[in-house]
Order: sequence, then structure tokens, then C-alpha cells
Amino acid sequence: MKPGHVRTYACGPTVYDYPHIGNLRSFVFSDILRRWLAHSGFKVKQIMNITDVDDKTIKGSQSAGLPLSEFTRKYENIFFSCLQNLNIKPAAKYTRATEHISEMLSLIEKLMKKGLAYKAADGIYFDISKFRGYGKLSGVLAEKSMSRIASDEYDKEHVQDFALWKFWKPADGKVFWQSPWGKGRPGWHIECSAMSMKYLGKSLDIHTGGTDLKFPHHENEIAQSTGATGKKFVNYWLHCEHLMVEGRKMAKSLGNIITLNDVNQKGISPLSLRYLLLTSHYRSQMNFTFESLQHSSETVEKLNDFYSKVHWLSQIRIRDKVVFGVKEYENLFKHHLDNDLDTVNALAAVHNAISDFNKALDKGTAGSRAAKVMLDFLQKVNSVLAVITEKEKRITSGEKKLISKREKLRKLKKFREADLIREQLHKKKIILEDTPYGPRWKKA
Ligand code: AMP
Ligand code: ZN
Repeated sequence: MKPGHVRTYACGPTVYDYPHIGNLRSFVFSDILRRWLAHSGFKVKQIMNITDVDDKTIKGSQSAGLPLSEFTRKYENIFFSCLQNLNIKPAAKYTRATEHISEMLSLIEKLMKKGLAYKAADGIYFDISKFRGYGKLSGVLAEKSMSRIASDEYDKEHVQDFALWKFWKPADGKVFWQSPWGKGRPGWHIECSAMSMKYLGKSLDIHTGGTDLKFPHHENEIAQSTGATGKKFVNYWLHCEHLMVEGRKMAKSLGNIITLNDVNQKGISPLSLRYLLLTSHYRSQMNFTFESLQHSSETVEKLNDFYSKVHWLSQIRIRDKVVFGVKEYENLFKHHLDNDLDTVNALAAVHNAISDFNKALDKGTAGSRAAKVMLDFLQKVNSVLAVITEKEKRITSGEKKLISKREKLRKLKKFREADLIREQLHKKKIILEDTPYGPRWKKA
């Protein structure tokens, strides 16, 4: 809405357990989105909520015998460490529901004043019949929505109406806040309306989340926000499809979840999972297997190795016989990501560029300039993909001298002395590999 800027809100985690890799798929997706927007020159402000009060967190804290905040803080930290391990950039702000109760209350008051909400025996409810356009986002039919919300444990005037504020009941224990209608706690949906509008304004550019949030959560967010402000709440909704296991959604309730710990325990890095998640379009369901994860792990290893090879080639002097360019692949990479974040074809463009480079190397036409071009390309694409972790390792000029001394000795067939230098370097964790371009060093 404001040229050059993107204000985006991502529905965050409910912090009552370890996130599973299906949850993490939705966060890798919103990370790719913001990285691509930033790469394209936009100033991105991303806000993500932390649901730290709801039925599940209250239940969890009670069975753990911990105060709610202590219990949720533990899982919040686990969530943040997962994000870090997956190279997910931090949001501008993570907003906790429990720290925005007053904003939620003023929003509910507004809805009450406008006649869009009403008081029932157990709480304050949003009256869906008063909000034209309910169901437009997800296309839910009234019958469908009735069955979905009827499974809720609260009594309502209309089956579709949802709770904005829930009055305290003994089962809530010490969890309550004061409100104009008595003590209680917020319903789940109101937090996202209150916090997104506080930090991003009445209308935002992009709102993201998993596809299961489209209804009822996002329908309810629209009803609450537009209901209160009279303005369009969100310009673009982007929903990430489910990660599946053997044809079923990965979900705690189905008992088929896999966490990042499970991935680590197999000796596979979290970034291999990040890569795997990028091999499917975010709007397609993706079937998870450890076999495909293993395959991704090998690809990520090859990418890192290729990166370090190219880095090395760019540092030594090899004459280029032809001009090597990657403009075509750069354009393709941009074209595919601009096309609704088509990471599948964007990755293919990267692999094709790599294969072109390797072919040129084999033919002996690519030199240090080509390597520099390739290195630059890899760095650009990795600012979005974020799967290559290989650092540009440098060696000292003394170490460089040792390497050329060894090379000279080898040429003089003084292999014993040459090997001694190799061992000397090995002790410094510098490993030499002889290539047609001379010795390539790797630093462990
Ligand atoms: P929760 O912590 O349950 O609030 O969920 C966090 C995010 O994960 C939400 O955006 C959900 O829509 C999303 N999500 C849950 N299960 C899956 C799944 N199997 N695949 C992809 N996203 C999921
Ligand atoms: Zn939300």
C-alpha cells in the first residue's frame, strides 16, 4: 500500500509443545516470502504473534504444574531455536498475546458498541449474522461452518458465532484478566486482529499462515478487524499447504509428528530440511519421507562443496578462455520467485547454472573470472534460499607460500619433502586436493 514497503503479519505458534516440521514448513514459507521481498528492494516489516494463552497452553501448564508464563516461555524458546537452526530471519517483533490484553479489550468494546458482538452466559461473542461477507475468503458454506464450530465447547446464540472473551471458570485456575464484563481471558482469534493492527495499521499488505487457518481463524480475523474499522483488513492472503505423512496431515492429534530433534538425531542438519521444504511449491501439499530428506542432505552438502570450490577458483589465477555469464539464470531465478514464490523452478535455475559452470570447467574454458561470476550468483541466491553455510575461509600468506613450495617440490619429483609440507598443513587443518588447476586447499 505504501510504495517500497511491505507490512506483513504471520500467524505464529501456539507455545505448548515442540513445533513439528509441518508447523515449521509454514514458517520457512513466510521466511522465503520476506527474504524475496527484501531481495527485490522492498522494506519489509514482519510481525509474528505468539499464542501464549488458549485452551492448550492452559491445560499444558496445569499438567506440568507450572505458571502459564513459565510453561509457555519454555516452548517459546524452543520455537526460537528452531527458527535459528532453519536460518529463518527474526520478525521485526514477536508479539505475545498475554502482553496485549488491553488492545484486545478495546477492540472487543468497539465491536460491542457497533452491535457486532453480544454477551452470552459464558463470554462475549461475535455475531456473524451482522457481518456481511463472512466466509468470502475461504468460501465456507454455512452448513460447513456450523459443523466446524459446533464442536466448540461453548454455548452460542448462533452456531457460527465465536468467542471474543471467555468468562473465567474454575478450570482456568489463576489464568484471568479483568475486563468491563468481568474477569476472563481472550478468545484465540482476537489476538491476531488486535496485534496486527497495533503494529501494522488498520490495513496490511500480506497476511500469512497455514492453510488450516483460512477457516475459521482468518475469516474471524477479517470479521473482527473490518467489523471494527470498516476498512479492508488485508490485501493479500497467502496460505501454506500442509506437510503430509503417508497421505495425512502432519498433526499432533494424529500422532504422526516429526520434530527438528528427530531430524538432528538422524545426523541430518536442519538446513537439509529447509532445502527439502523448498523443493515443493508452498501451495502444494508435500509428502514427507526421511528418504527425500536424506536426498536433500546430500544435495546441500554438494552445494556447500561447490561453493567452496568456486570460492577457491575465484582466488587463484586461471585464464578464462570464453566469457562465462549467468544472467539468463539470474533472470530465471527472479522470474520464478516473482511467480508466486515458485521455489521449485528457482532451484532448478540454480542447479542449471552450476551444471553449466562445471561443464565449462571440464572443457577448460572457465577461469577465475567465471568463478567470480558464479560466486556472486551463489551469494545472491543464497540470501533468499539460505541453505549454503560454507564460510569463505581464508589462509595466511605464509600458508599460501607453503602450498606453492610443496607444488615446486612435487614438480621436481621431491615427493618426500612435498609430503612433509602436506602433513605440516594438515596439522593446521588445511587439506590439499590436487586438481588440474593445481592444489586446492580446504580448511576443516
Ligand atoms: P500452531 O502452533 O498449531 O498454531 O500452528 C502454527 C502454524 O503451523 C499454523 O500456521 C498452522 O496452520 C501450521 N501448520 C500446522 N500443521 C501443519 C502442517 N501439517 N503442514 C503445514 N503447516 C501446518
Ligand atoms: Zn493468527
